[in-house]
Amino acid sequence: MDGDRADELVAAADVSAGVLREVAAGVRRMVAPNPSPFTHTGTCTYVVGRGIVAVVDPGPDDPAHVAALIAATEGERIAHILVTHTHRDHSPAARRLAAATGAEIVGCAPHRPRHPGAAGGLDAAHDPDHAPDRILADGDVLRGEGYSFEAVATPGHAANHLCFAHAQGDSLFSGDHVMAWSTSVVAPPDGSMGDYLASLEALRARGETTYWPGHGGPVREPARYVRALLHHRRQREAAILERLGAGDATVAAIVARLYDGLAPALAPAARLTTFAHLEDLVARGLAEADGEATPGANYRRRG
Ligand SMILES: [Zn+2]
Repeated sequence: MDGDRADELVAAADVSAGVLREVAAGVRRMVAPNPSPFTHTGTCTYVVGRGIVAVVDPGPDDPAHVAALIAATEGERIAHILVTHTHRDHSPAARRLAAATGAEIVGCAPHRPRHPGAAGGLDAAHDPDHAPDRILADGDVLRGEGYSFEAVATPGHAANHLCFAHAQGDSLFSGDHVMAWSTSVVAPPDGSMGDYLASLEALRARGETTYWPGHGGPVREPARYVRALLHHRRQREAAILERLGAGDATVAAIVARLYDGLAPALAPAARLTTFAHLEDLVARGLAEADGEATPGANYRRRG
C-alpha cells in the first residue's frame, strides 16, 4: 500500500522531537515514542480545535508523552479525550491525561474478552482498565466548543473500535481501522474479518476527504483507498481458498505460501490474519474445519 512518503518522513522526525505539529486546519498531531513493527513510527495522538480542545487517542501509558502533550497545549484546556479502541498503544494515557486536566474520557466501550477465562495472549494487547466517562454508540455525536465528532462503529480490528468523523475538518479519525502505512491486523477472537469487511463497506458510503489514522500519515482519497483495501482482502481470501483447494490445510502451510519473505516479527500477525479469513470463510460456508475453527485446526474448501 502506498503511504504518503513525505509525511512519513516528517512523522519520523516528530518522534524524537516530541513536537505537536499542525497537520491541517484545526488538527495537530504528536507521535508517541513507541515505534515498533506494529506501531510504525508510534501512535498518533491528535489535538483538535484551539483554546478548548479534544485529544484523540492519547496513546500508551507513557508519562513523558503525556507531559509533552500537556506542555504543548499550555494555555489551552483539554475538554475531551476520545479513544478509538482499547489496544494498549491507544487508550492507557487517557487516565493520566484526564487526571492532570479534568478532561472527560469519551468513545469506545471497555474491552470485553469474547471468551472470558480463555488464556489468550491476544487479550494482553488490550488495556483492561479503560474506564470511559461516556461511551459513544454508532451515530452518537460529541459536541465541544469549536469541534464536533460523530462516532462511526467500525468493529473488526478490535470489537469495540470506533472512528470519529470530524465535521469541521471534513475528515475522519480512523484509528487502526484504516491506515495508509499498512493494512490492519485482524486477530480473532477480539478481531473479526467479517466485521472488518462490513466496517470497510460502511466507510465507503461516507464522504470525508481525509482520514487521520492511529499510525503513520494521512489517508488521502480515502474512498478509493478503502475500495483498494476491500479488493486486497478479497484477493487474499481467493488466494486462501485456492490454497485450501490445492491441499494446504493449516494456517502455517497457507502462511508459508502466501507471505513469502515475511519479516519474522510479523509472522504471528500473518498467522492471525490468515486464521481470521479462515474463520470468516467457515462462517460463510465456503470452508470447513475438522471440528471448531481454531488457529490449530485443519481446514478444507467446501463445494
Ligand atoms: Zn489497535
